[in-house]
Amino acid sequence: MADTIDQITLAPIPARHWTELGRNAYTPEGLGETRTEWLVRARTTGGVEGLANARQRVSAEGGSVARLVADLREVFLGRSVDSLLEIADGHAVAAGSEVRRAFMTWGWMDTLAMDLMSRTRGESIATMLGGRRRDRIPAYESTTYFQDLLNPHRGLAEVVTHASRGFADGFRQFKIKVGRGGRAMTPADGLRRDIDVVLGIRDALGPDVELMVDANFGYDGQPENLAAFIRATSPARLTWLEEMVTASVEAYQTLRDLQATHCPETLLVAGEVDGNPPSGAFVDLIDQQLIDGYQPDIVRIGHLRWKQLESRLAERSILPIPHNFGNGRFGLIAGLALATSLDSWVTLEDERIRPSVYADDALTVINGAYWAPDGPGLGVEVNDDAYKRIGAPNEVVIRA
Ligand SMILES: [Mg+2]
Repeated sequence: MADTIDQITLAPIPARHWTELGRNAYTPEGLGETRTEWLVRARTTGGVEGLANARQRVSAEGGSVARLVADLREVFLGRSVDSLLEIADGHAVAAGSEVRRAFMTWGWMDTLAMDLMSRTRGESIATMLGGRRRDRIPAYESTTYFQDLLNPHRGLAEVVTHASRGFADGFRQFKIKVGRGGRAMTPADGLRRDIDVVLGIRDALGPDVELMVDANFGYDGQPENLAAFIRATSPARLTWLEEMVTASVEAYQTLRDLQATHCPETLLVAGEVDGNPPSGAFVDLIDQQLIDGYQPDIVRIGHLRWKQLESRLAERSILPIPHNFGNGRFGLIAGLALATSLDSWVTLEDERIRPSVYADDALTVINGAYWAPDGPGLGVEVNDDAYKRIGAPNEVVIRA
């Protein structure tokens, strides 16, 4: 008899960063320490369990727990695992016809289906997506927010100390939030602090680490300050400039000229805001090669969809650099599975969420990288004792 999904549970799981995070260019307040995962566990008549983080369905506009329950009932409950994905030569190539529309809207459903199907077959997600591409997954520390504004008396030193602790914890790549000159400081003061932070971290961590910056559009409307930032930070040899300005062909042509003049080795990357990739301005930015890396979110887009996107990017020599922030501990697990699957890989965004309900003791960054999971499925199970304490108290059970 075909393996059928006969029970689904849903639970909010606190996802705690390793420390308190400050604000970025657009958040009015610091990010604090705790976010929420909505952990879905779908079980089959054959005893297989697949996992997903359905946070998007609750936090998106119009979202609610009730809607998430209704969607899980409609799309997954009572459905056979075989019907979720189309398989050719042992590889997942498309969503099943009955669920395709739902998977296009909610990428976490694609991941849930990939996990269920892979575990049912006793294979890893990478194998299902075409084969294991690498053994080690480089990852970057992504929590250097405006830490200086959390502890004003320590200022710049606070940001440098934050990054240095990441180095001590094993990271060798760091992304630094910039764009203070707008909602956090005056443009002139913000520019100066942004430059000091980048040069200060480069000085503290030495020439061998990789440094990236992310402005979350904080240089919109400040062309002269944008140029000044790029000029002044060129000695830091940044790996990439992320979302310096809002995506448009005109803005990125200007940015491309600046980059070509002052830091030709630095990549221009964007796209985490694209929920239906590629859409809007990103179609032109990709076609005209005005970006070098494209960043739709891992959990929002899903594994199969990301794999499909990869070939389109490869035609234009654009690198996949998926966004992975706000996805909780599950985001790390999902990101490692995706990184193991993609033909080209740059680095995994790590928001450094402390262990929670997963049996994932082996997930430790060593010399800047994680070991690639080898399955089955995502390669990680839920730890029953931890789940009893953290997930079960607020669990919703969905049965036929
Ligand atoms: Mg970003």
